[in-house]
Amino acid sequence: MNIVLLGPPGVGKGTQGRRLNAEFGWPLISTGEMLRDAAARGTPLGLEAKRMSDAGDLVPDDVMIGLVRERLSQPDASTGFILDGFPRTTIQASALDDILAERGTSLDTVALLNAPGEELVRRLGARRECPVCKRAYNLISAPPRDGRHCDDHVEVDLVRRVDDADDTIRQRLAVYRKQTEPLIGHYRGQGKLREFSGTESADVVYGAIRQVIAMVRAEG
Ligand code: AMP
Repeated sequence: MNIVLLGPPGVGKGTQGRRLNAEFGWPLISTGEMLRDAAARGTPLGLEAKRMSDAGDLVPDDVMIGLVRERLSQPDASTGFILDGFPRTTIQASALDDILAERGTSLDTVALLNAPGEELVRRLGARRECPVCKRAYNLISAPPRDGRHCDDHVEVDLVRRVDDADDTIRQRLAVYRKQTEPLIGHYRGQGKLREFSGTESADVVYGAIRQVIAMVRAEG
Protein backbone atom coordinates (compact mmCIF):
# COMPACT_ATOMS: atom_id res chain seq x y z
CA MET A 1 0.00 0.00 0.00
CA ASN A 2 1.21 3.47 -0.92
CA ILE A 3 -0.17 5.86 1.67
CA VAL A 4 0.13 9.59 2.26
CA LEU A 5 -0.68 11.02 5.68
CA LEU A 6 -1.90 14.56 5.19
CA GLY A 7 -2.80 17.15 7.80
CA PRO A 8 -1.57 20.10 9.83
CA PRO A 9 1.41 19.91 12.19
CA GLY A 10 0.49 18.35 15.52
CA VAL A 11 -2.55 16.44 14.29
CA GLY A 12 -0.97 13.03 14.92
CA LYS A 13 0.40 11.95 11.52
CA GLY A 14 3.65 10.68 13.05
CA THR A 15 1.84 8.66 15.72
CA GLN A 16 -0.46 7.03 13.16
CA GLY A 17 2.44 6.45 10.77
CA ARG A 18 4.48 4.66 13.44
CA ARG A 19 1.53 2.41 14.23
CA LEU A 20 0.94 1.57 10.57
CA ASN A 21 4.64 0.80 10.16
CA ALA A 22 4.63 -1.44 13.24
CA GLU A 23 1.56 -3.39 12.10
CA PHE A 24 2.05 -3.62 8.33
CA GLY A 25 5.81 -3.11 7.90
CA TRP A 26 5.64 -0.48 5.13
CA PRO A 27 8.51 1.96 5.70
CA LEU A 28 7.52 5.21 7.36
CA ILE A 29 9.06 8.04 5.37
CA SER A 30 8.93 11.22 7.42
CA THR A 31 10.55 14.07 5.52
CA GLY A 32 10.79 16.20 8.69
CA GLU A 33 12.64 13.34 10.38
CA MET A 34 14.96 12.94 7.37
CA LEU A 35 15.84 16.65 7.54
CA ARG A 36 16.40 16.55 11.30
CA ASP A 37 18.71 13.51 10.86
CA ALA A 38 20.65 15.31 8.13
CA ALA A 39 21.01 18.37 10.41
CA ALA A 40 22.18 16.21 13.32
CA ARG A 41 24.80 14.65 11.03
CA GLY A 42 25.88 18.17 10.03
CA THR A 43 25.48 17.69 6.26
CA PRO A 44 25.30 20.94 4.22
CA LEU A 45 21.75 20.09 3.16
CA GLY A 46 20.74 19.35 6.74
CA LEU A 47 22.18 22.59 8.10
CA GLU A 48 20.60 24.70 5.36
CA ALA A 49 17.22 22.99 5.86
CA LYS A 50 17.44 23.50 9.62
CA ARG A 51 17.62 27.26 9.17
CA MET A 52 14.29 27.17 7.30
CA SER A 53 12.52 24.59 9.41
CA ASP A 54 13.55 26.24 12.70
CA ALA A 55 11.74 29.35 11.43
CA GLY A 56 8.67 27.31 10.51
CA ASP A 57 9.17 27.78 6.76
CA LEU A 58 9.21 25.12 4.08
CA VAL A 59 12.37 23.76 2.51
CA PRO A 60 12.42 24.35 -1.30
CA ASP A 61 10.42 21.95 -3.45
CA ASP A 62 13.34 20.77 -5.60
CA VAL A 63 15.34 19.75 -2.51
CA MET A 64 12.40 17.84 -1.02
CA ILE A 65 11.45 16.18 -4.31
CA GLY A 66 15.05 15.01 -4.78
CA LEU A 67 15.14 13.57 -1.27
CA VAL A 68 11.87 11.70 -1.67
CA ARG A 69 12.68 10.44 -5.17
CA GLU A 70 15.89 8.93 -3.83
CA ARG A 71 14.20 7.45 -0.73
CA LEU A 72 11.38 5.88 -2.77
CA SER A 73 13.94 4.19 -5.03
CA GLN A 74 15.25 2.12 -2.12
CA PRO A 75 14.16 -1.52 -2.17
CA ASP A 76 12.15 -1.41 1.06
CA ALA A 77 9.73 1.09 -0.52
CA SER A 78 8.98 -1.09 -3.52
CA THR A 79 6.00 -2.87 -1.96
CA GLY A 80 4.54 0.10 -0.15
CA PHE A 81 5.30 3.15 1.98
CA ILE A 82 3.78 5.60 4.36
CA LEU A 83 4.65 9.22 3.62
CA ASP A 84 4.41 11.65 6.55
CA GLY A 85 5.06 15.32 5.80
CA PHE A 86 5.33 14.98 2.02
CA PRO A 87 3.86 16.30 -0.20
CA ARG A 88 3.35 19.75 1.32
CA THR A 89 2.82 21.83 -1.85
CA THR A 90 0.94 21.25 -5.09
CA ILE A 91 4.29 21.10 -6.93
CA GLN A 92 5.43 18.29 -4.62
CA ALA A 93 2.11 16.48 -5.08
CA SER A 94 2.42 16.56 -8.89
CA ALA A 95 6.06 15.44 -8.67
CA LEU A 96 5.03 12.51 -6.47
CA ASP A 97 2.34 11.50 -8.97
CA ASP A 98 5.03 11.57 -11.70
CA ILE A 99 7.63 9.64 -9.69
CA LEU A 100 5.11 6.89 -8.96
CA ALA A 101 3.80 6.84 -12.53
CA GLU A 102 7.38 6.35 -13.80
CA ARG A 103 7.45 3.21 -11.69
CA GLY A 104 4.05 2.03 -12.91
CA THR A 105 2.40 2.63 -9.57
CA SER A 106 0.32 5.28 -7.81
CA LEU A 107 -0.99 6.27 -4.41
CA ASP A 108 -3.60 3.95 -2.94
CA THR A 109 -4.98 6.34 -0.37
CA VAL A 110 -4.46 9.73 1.24
CA ALA A 111 -5.49 9.90 4.89
CA LEU A 112 -6.37 13.45 5.92
CA LEU A 113 -6.33 14.09 9.66
CA ASN A 114 -7.77 17.35 10.84
CA ALA A 115 -8.29 19.29 14.07
CA PRO A 116 -9.11 22.90 15.01
CA GLY A 117 -6.18 25.35 15.12
CA GLU A 118 -6.37 26.03 18.88
CA GLU A 119 -6.20 22.29 19.60
CA LEU A 120 -3.08 21.99 17.39
CA VAL A 121 -1.38 24.92 19.16
CA ARG A 122 -2.12 23.30 22.53
CA ARG A 123 -0.81 19.91 21.42
CA LEU A 124 2.37 21.19 19.78
CA GLY A 125 3.17 23.25 22.88
CA ALA A 126 2.96 20.09 25.02
CA ARG A 127 4.78 17.84 22.54
CA ARG A 128 8.09 16.28 23.59
CA GLU A 129 10.22 13.59 22.03
CA CYS A 130 12.96 11.21 23.03
CA PRO A 131 16.15 12.35 21.26
CA VAL A 132 17.32 8.72 21.09
CA CYS A 133 14.36 6.70 19.78
CA LYS A 134 12.17 9.65 18.59
CA ARG A 135 9.21 8.28 20.54
CA ALA A 136 6.61 11.02 20.80
CA TYR A 137 5.00 12.12 24.07
CA ASN A 138 2.51 14.76 25.02
CA LEU A 139 2.84 16.22 28.50
CA ILE A 140 -0.96 16.52 28.75
CA SER A 141 -2.45 13.57 26.89
CA ALA A 142 0.37 11.01 26.70
CA PRO A 143 3.02 11.85 29.32
CA PRO A 144 6.02 9.63 30.06
CA ARG A 145 5.80 7.53 33.24
CA ASP A 146 7.98 9.85 35.35
CA GLY A 147 6.87 13.06 33.64
CA ARG A 148 10.35 13.84 32.25
CA HIS A 149 12.30 10.95 30.77
CA CYS A 150 11.65 8.52 27.93
CA ASP A 151 9.96 5.34 29.19
CA ASP A 152 12.38 3.27 27.10
CA HIS A 153 15.51 5.36 27.82
CA VAL A 154 15.07 6.34 31.44
CA GLU A 155 18.34 8.28 31.59
CA VAL A 156 17.34 10.53 28.66
CA ASP A 157 15.51 13.86 29.14
CA LEU A 158 12.70 14.44 26.66
CA VAL A 159 13.20 17.46 24.40
CA ARG A 160 10.99 20.06 22.75
CA ARG A 161 11.60 20.53 19.03
CA VAL A 162 13.01 23.97 18.19
CA ASP A 163 10.13 24.50 15.75
CA ASP A 164 7.58 23.73 18.48
CA ALA A 165 8.32 27.15 20.04
CA ASP A 166 5.07 29.14 20.38
CA ASP A 167 5.72 31.73 17.62
CA THR A 168 7.00 29.11 15.21
CA ILE A 169 3.92 26.94 15.75
CA ARG A 170 1.71 29.78 14.46
CA GLN A 171 3.96 30.28 11.44
CA ARG A 172 3.84 26.53 10.64
CA LEU A 173 0.06 26.51 10.84
CA ALA A 174 -0.15 29.55 8.55
CA VAL A 175 2.18 27.86 6.05
CA TYR A 176 0.04 24.72 6.20
CA ARG A 177 -3.18 26.65 5.47
CA LYS A 178 -1.61 28.51 2.55
CA GLN A 179 0.63 25.92 0.91
CA THR A 180 -0.55 22.46 1.96
CA GLU A 181 -4.32 22.74 2.34
CA PRO A 182 -4.79 23.06 -1.44
CA LEU A 183 -3.65 19.43 -1.69
CA ILE A 184 -6.97 18.38 -0.20
CA GLY A 185 -8.62 19.40 -3.48
CA HIS A 186 -5.89 17.69 -5.52
CA TYR A 187 -6.48 14.33 -3.84
CA ARG A 188 -10.24 14.71 -3.53
CA GLY A 189 -10.26 15.19 -7.31
CA GLN A 190 -8.37 11.91 -7.68
CA GLY A 191 -10.94 10.17 -5.46
CA LYS A 192 -8.17 9.16 -3.02
CA LEU A 193 -8.94 11.31 -0.01
CA ARG A 194 -10.23 9.75 3.21
CA GLU A 195 -10.90 12.04 6.17
CA PHE A 196 -10.38 11.32 9.86
CA SER A 197 -11.04 13.43 12.91
CA GLY A 198 -7.68 14.10 14.55
CA THR A 199 -9.43 15.16 17.76
CA GLU A 200 -10.35 11.56 18.63
CA SER A 201 -7.92 9.46 20.65
CA ALA A 202 -4.97 7.92 18.79
CA ASP A 203 -6.61 4.48 19.22
CA VAL A 204 -9.91 5.58 17.68
CA VAL A 205 -8.18 7.30 14.75
CA TYR A 206 -6.00 4.26 14.16
CA GLY A 207 -9.03 1.95 14.19
CA ALA A 208 -10.70 4.09 11.53
CA ILE A 209 -7.55 4.19 9.36
CA ARG A 210 -7.18 0.40 9.60
CA GLN A 211 -10.74 -0.06 8.40
CA VAL A 212 -10.11 2.14 5.38
CA ILE A 213 -6.90 0.27 4.60
CA ALA A 214 -8.72 -3.05 4.76
CA MET A 215 -11.37 -1.65 2.39
CA VAL A 216 -8.86 -0.21 -0.09
CA ARG A 217 -6.91 -3.49 -0.06
CA ALA A 218 -10.08 -5.47 -0.70
CA GLU A 219 -10.94 -3.20 -3.64
CA GLY A 220 -7.41 -3.42 -5.06
P1 AMP B 1 7.58 17.95 10.22
O1 AMP B 1 8.41 17.10 11.10
O2 AMP B 1 6.82 17.18 9.18
O3 AMP B 1 6.68 18.90 11.00
O4 AMP B 1 8.59 18.87 9.39
C1 AMP B 1 9.45 19.79 10.06
C2 AMP B 1 9.93 20.85 9.08
O5 AMP B 1 10.72 20.24 8.04
C3 AMP B 1 8.84 21.60 8.34
O6 AMP B 1 8.32 22.68 9.11
C4 AMP B 1 9.60 22.09 7.10
O7 AMP B 1 10.44 23.18 7.42
C5 AMP B 1 10.48 20.91 6.79
N1 AMP B 1 9.80 19.96 5.87
C6 AMP B 1 9.42 18.68 6.14
N2 AMP B 1 8.82 18.13 5.07
C7 AMP B 1 8.80 19.09 4.11
C8 AMP B 1 8.29 19.15 2.79
N3 AMP B 1 7.66 18.10 2.23
N4 AMP B 1 8.44 20.31 2.10
C9 AMP B 1 9.07 21.38 2.63
N5 AMP B 1 9.57 21.39 3.87
C10 AMP B 1 9.43 20.26 4.62
